Amino acid sequence: MAPWWAGCSKEAFSAGLDRLARALKSFSDAKNGKRKGRRVGFPRFKKRGKARDSFRYTTGVYGPAGDRRVKLPRIGRVRVHEPMGALTSRLADGRARLLGATVSRTARRWFVSFTVEVDREIPDTPSRRQRTGGAVGVDLGVKHLAVLSTGETIPNPRHLATSLRRLRTASRAYTRSKPGSVGRHKRAARLARIHARVAAQRRDGLHTLTTRLAKTHDVIVVEDLHVAGMARNRHLARAVSDTGMAEVRRQLVYKTSWYGSRLVVADRWYPSSRTCSGCGRRNPSLTLSDRTFTCPSCGLAVDRDVNAAVNLRDLVAASASETQNARGGDRKTALARQVPVKREPGTARAGQTGGAIPSRVAARQRLTHAS
Ligand SMILES: [Zn+2]
Repeated sequence: MAPWWAGCSKEAFSAGLDRLARALKSFSDAKNGKRKGRRVGFPRFKKRGKARDSFRYTTGVYGPAGDRRVKLPRIGRVRVHEPMGALTSRLADGRARLLGATVSRTARRWFVSFTVEVDREIPDTPSRRQRTGGAVGVDLGVKHLAVLSTGETIPNPRHLATSLRRLRTASRAYTRSKPGSVGRHKRAARLARIHARVAAQRRDGLHTLTTRLAKTHDVIVVEDLHVAGMARNRHLARAVSDTGMAEVRRQLVYKTSWYGSRLVVADRWYPSSRTCSGCGRRNPSLTLSDRTFTCPSCGLAVDRDVNAAVNLRDLVAASASETQNARGGDRKTALARQVPVKREPGTARAGQTGGAIPSRVAARQRLTHAS
């Protein structure tokens, strides 16, 4: 007997089974060496309320329904915070197609995100936005979120670090509460809210930075950092994850193609911090603790990260062959169905990393959260 069965959309069950099927396939593919990247283990059971609660609609009638409303099968019309006008008009005149809707919960908020295939004009030339122009080298780091070749320093917001004290208090209160009690439930909710807030602040900072870079420069040069490897180093892990360096790269890949600028990813082994940006000589004696780059040949003394950023910028002039925009950014690819935006881990070659953004893109757009 399953008395709750009729009350739910059948998609809620099939979404779970679909994920299990995918997880099992990844597991067996990894075992048989058919899958690249990190080894995938046997799928673990995801308990309601413990894992990320979500399910996905792929059939039925769902989509925007009015200005700030969304319709979902079985649930009905739900009021949301974000205006639906842009999506509604794109759907109406055929510039966008809905591929699915995912309903998920973070802390106490419910979200619905639509997977949308969008026809998007990708500008060949730098768009109407004004650009301070030229190339900019971006040195991503732990000490600062980014240092630009212009000398500008974008401070690491360290949202996690500032919230850490509150997180500690909240998680201590949680652990001390009695299992199964009302108090524990409340404290778990409070802890989740702090985590969600940190994540939202971080996301906002990163988007602000990457949008500005993509809009105001023709060419953006970043280093091909091995972020996954750095995060595995337990001394660096928290700081690295806090800045979201990998996320900066991922966002730059698609935003440069939106705004008609270009992303260049320098080879992982390019010695950007060891080379003098003045005379081009290497300084092999530079250590990680040296904050200032001092050149033994020409006597240049400049901030270590600015030096690296300038070297990255000058790389564009040195070789055009390193250039990689979002791969296939100008290619017309007709998509039959949804295309994964994320790429399989571990398949990217140096200098060719990043997700492909074809002109018609299946974009996951976080649209809104329901009240
Ligand atoms: Zn020099």
